[in-house]
Amino acid sequence: MSVLSDPFGRTFPYLRLSLTEACNFRCGYCLPDGYAADGRPVFLARDEVRRLLGAFATVGMRKVRLTGGEPTLRKDLVDIVADAARIDGVAKVALTTNGTRLPAHVGPWRDAGLTSLNVSADSLDRGVFEAVTGHDRLPEILDGIDRALALGFDAVKLNAVLLRGINDESLPAWLDYLRERRVSVRFIELMRTNDNVAYFERHHVRADAMERTLAESGWVRMMRASDAGPAIEYVHPDYAGRIGIIAPYSRDFCAGCNRLRVTARGDLRLCLFGDHGVPLRALLQSDDDRDALVGLIASQLRLKAAGHGLHAGDSGITPHLASIGG
Ligand code: SAM
Ligand code: SF4
Repeated sequence: MSVLSDPFGRTFPYLRLSLTEACNFRCGYCLPDGYAADGRPVFLARDEVRRLLGAFATVGMRKVRLTGGEPTLRKDLVDIVADAARIDGVAKVALTTNGTRLPAHVGPWRDAGLTSLNVSADSLDRGVFEAVTGHDRLPEILDGIDRALALGFDAVKLNAVLLRGINDESLPAWLDYLRERRVSVRFIELMRTNDNVAYFERHHVRADAMERTLAESGWVRMMRASDAGPAIEYVHPDYAGRIGIIAPYSRDFCAGCNRLRVTARGDLRLCLFGDHGVPLRALLQSDDDRDALVGLIASQLRLKAAGHGLHAGDSGITPHLASIGG
């Protein structure tokens, strides 16, 4: 089968797979009360994940990002990474994590075939970090990031959600951090989900002011490669690191969308803010169902919408991003 494409000519070499909805943090915009199990069927098992990734690779997936919830809470993460790295055609295996398990595990993940790493850190200030996440764990996470940088990953990126009144004046601290470190820090505009409406109203801030400051202080906006993700990247000759801006409320954000998502319970989600999921789990129980699974994925992609409805206040069926793997 050839590479998948949708009615708008977009292809989807990139899959984001949530491995769990559980998390050990309580980020104010995501799971402010922490994760509470809801008693529904458990998350995809290692064999189900292997079959799923094999089918997506058949139709053109070249990169998979393992996310959650907090994917590193899975005891079998290192095996899942190794399975993914072994699949024909899969060139990149990436992980998005809150970083709490980096110090002990980043070496084994790298050895198993992990190629790139995104670590979420909304602040370099210990107190602010604790206020956002509910946990005083910034020092060990920064230590884990430095360990990762020594391991030769293709890319190490940090994600910081921009929060009005909390961390929106922290650019100078980030610049110090980036001067010598070869990392990309990506500032993400807060997205409205069904559970965070009040928090969103209080703390959402556009990235425009930060982009103006960057331009005024010599940061240069890079041309966007045709297969690039949603970040607009900036570089500066005096800094080893880069800065990315992810602005989901900007015009044309969806035009470059090259990704699909699968939830931790095995539902294909065509858009982060879509209005329905397509259950794939029944076809993940046996290797014999592979052709049917590939056929189902291909037929669903033809239905992918042109863009999300966030501007109209429509967050689809997404209660919070831990449910779908932001
Ligand atoms: N637990 C892992 C972590 O925090 O990196 C992986 C899952 S988390 C849902 C993935 C990313 O989504 C994190 O960088 C997080 O900051 C971001 N995120 C969560 N909710 C968000 C929201 N409402 N708006 C923007 N980014 C959000
Ligand atoms: Fe957990 Fe990540 Fe959500 Fe924070 S953003 S609560 S670390 S899933």
